Amino acid sequence: MSMWNREKETLSRDEYASLQLKGLKKSLSRVWGNEFYRKRLVLGGVSSPEDIKTLDDLKKLPFFTKEDFRKAYPLKMNCVSRKDLLEFHQSSGSTGTPVVMAYTKGDLLQWAECMARCYYMAGLEKGDALQVMPTFGLFNGGFGCYHGCRKAELFCVPASSGNTERQIQLLRDFRVKAFVSVVSYVPRIIEKLDASNYRDLPYLKVGIFGSETFSDETRKRIESRLGIECFDIYGMTETGGIGTTGQDCCCHNGLHVWEDQYITEIVNPATGEVVPDGEYGEVVFTSLTREAMPILRYRTRDISRILSREKCACGRTSLRIDRITGRTDDMLIVKGVNFYPRQVEQALKEIPGVADEFQIIITEEEGIADVMIKVEAAEGVSGHMVAKHLREKLGFLPKGEVMPIGSLPRTEGKAKRVIRITR
Ligand SMILES: [Zn+2]
Repeated sequence: MSMWNREKETLSRDEYASLQLKGLKKSLSRVWGNEFYRKRLVLGGVSSPEDIKTLDDLKKLPFFTKEDFRKAYPLKMNCVSRKDLLEFHQSSGSTGTPVVMAYTKGDLLQWAECMARCYYMAGLEKGDALQVMPTFGLFNGGFGCYHGCRKAELFCVPASSGNTERQIQLLRDFRVKAFVSVVSYVPRIIEKLDASNYRDLPYLKVGIFGSETFSDETRKRIESRLGIECFDIYGMTETGGIGTTGQDCCCHNGLHVWEDQYITEIVNPATGEVVPDGEYGEVVFTSLTREAMPILRYRTRDISRILSREKCACGRTSLRIDRITGRTDDMLIVKGVNFYPRQVEQALKEIPGVADEFQIIITEEEGIADVMIKVEAAEGVSGHMVAKHLREKLGFLPKGEVMPIGSLPRTEGKAKRVIRITR
């Protein structure tokens, strides 16, 4: 199977651990020279970078959040000389001060390395044409794809966003094998394609989608209409941009995180405690090799879980996390237990006869919340069975109600799973 960097993508657990400890110490000593980080760390109880002696000591570091990035606008978190900065990107800032990420030459190479790994993981290789549909500009997507193309020596079609007819023309004329885009743009391409004289895109084999979550159903629909294989690329401005924190491989059993580049923790968003493997929580990243603005215990607000630390069938050894399907903002707290709609979905799937559609109805009366799970299922499945199984999985007993298949309301796009009623 093709791999961009076989050596670094197939390290043993011990090798990852030793690289991680070295990288962690390096990142810490790097940020210690920056006033903004140092104040934050001292406030969080760190007296010197020497406090960190083992990987387990990572827990002694305070968390960093998007708020920190905003307070540090524009470059208070920059740890290198201004002369060493080559580029920066920033989030849209639509919900407040933008988040800025600046890059040294080394940071751009690190980004390109991660992207090259993603491209190869999606089955691409030198000479393949890749169409870049994210915007080239302040948003990191366009340039990140481009840096990766340079590194992996792909034939870059720098289309940027918009003008769907031209996108289709380019896909055909330049025999494009893969494109990178947000998943919500794909229906637009399909619509234009259906209305055009072409109908299909004969050279296209791969779609790489980032920055939005999407369901398995959406994936299947796109795959069958366009005749392509879809990949889910992961990364955000704060971690260094698109692709920096991984992607799924040909086995599509979770996202491989580049463990020689980042430490992954999954924490309980309410308590900050690290949760056991397999349990859902908030994804927290610590960068090991980034120079201008390393991140330490950065809380992403993305919800996932560690699926496996074992070697994958693709040959890669890096840990796999579940595809991101929720944000900490989705977290529900009922009877002192916190859970996510995604967990309910997962648990329901384990009951034979239960269909895909469900609703979580939270009724609050005088401050006491009650949960009812309505789910579509075949005959023979009872509400009691549903409730019992959910108690085992979630740790509290909801009410269960089973409805005939096709009776819950259907919505276009993202389904409304949670309904709150206050009495
Ligand atoms: Zn794999």
